[in-house]
Amino acid sequence: MKQIAVLTSGGDAPGMNAAIRAVTRTGIQKGWNIFGVRDGYQGLIEGNMTEMDSRDVSGIIQRGGTFLGSARCEEFKTEAGRREALRSLNENEIDGLVVIGGNGSQTGSFNLFKMGFPVVGVASTIDNDLVGSDITIGVDTALNIALEAIDRLKVTGSSHQRAFLIEVMGRNCGYLALMSAIAGGAETVVIPEVETDPDEIAHILSQAYERGKSHAIVVVAEGAKYNATKLAEFFEKHQERIGFALRVSILGHIQRGGTPSASDRILASRLGAGAVDCLDRGEFGVLVGWVNGKVQTTPLEEVVDKTKQIDLELFDLARKLD
Ligand code: ADP
Repeated sequence: MKQIAVLTSGGDAPGMNAAIRAVTRTGIQKGWNIFGVRDGYQGLIEGNMTEMDSRDVSGIIQRGGTFLGSARCEEFKTEAGRREALRSLNENEIDGLVVIGGNGSQTGSFNLFKMGFPVVGVASTIDNDLVGSDITIGVDTALNIALEAIDRLKVTGSSHQRAFLIEVMGRNCGYLALMSAIAGGAETVVIPEVETDPDEIAHILSQAYERGKSHAIVVVAEGAKYNATKLAEFFEKHQERIGFALRVSILGHIQRGGTPSASDRILASRLGAGAVDCLDRGEFGVLVGWVNGKVQTTPLEEVVDKTKQIDLELFDLARKLD
């Protein structure tokens, strides 16, 4: 290995910069040249990459987002698009590629690996839905942002006897919703993994009202069949049953833009360095993740097209603590 490239792809996650920094600096220490690719796979196809030295990644560890830019690139899903990417990798004499990203991005990296290029993935998504990493870069920060929002909504909810439906991100995975519900002391939680009857939620809210609670919080995962908007539509017709006045708050991209937490910076630094070690020992086509308290690799083949299962005991706990 003499020259490697690094890119960030898909949804950005706080801590991606720390991962780029770790790849760059540990790679330089091995005597390699490191190239930063702009805007994910789009930049790879266009050959939009420049060499980075140690100073180019100074002052970014504390910044959310990704200074290399990220993008969603339909062209890379086609074989012709990936051939173009291979051509520009060869043109720039790149020997190995690190892809920092989530589920879709790692499907892309696996498809490139299958075409014969040495690729290593780094587990990074706020959704925490990747098989091969107990926790992924960005989750801790996103969780803390959701929590801050829940705490604030509780304050205003108490002043007006309101119930809030708070929708958090996570795509088809309920992890962020579940954890923010437990940590935020929500009355209940709605996640894609568990079928939810809106009548049951209405019942939980009316019981909380009758017990004299001054506010109630329902955390709803965006990927749930009844997301916050659909639940609100349902409750509009059953307002008298609930007691509380109802408000909806969709947190959306706010969760992605935070200053990376200490945990995310450390995780990203370890996984970024781990990816460089993988390339160095010739271990390709793997995802570098955090498993059982250690940096570990999982073949990308076992990662793609899957969603990590959540611990349903935590769902029971969230509902017991109302
Ligand atoms: P994330 O990595 O955050 O899950 P996406 O699912 O949007 O984000 O995927 C990011 C990018 O990864 C896509 O825009 C595309 O360029 C690439 N990608 C996704 N799926 C595939 C696939 N099946 N084959 C090749 N590339 C893919």
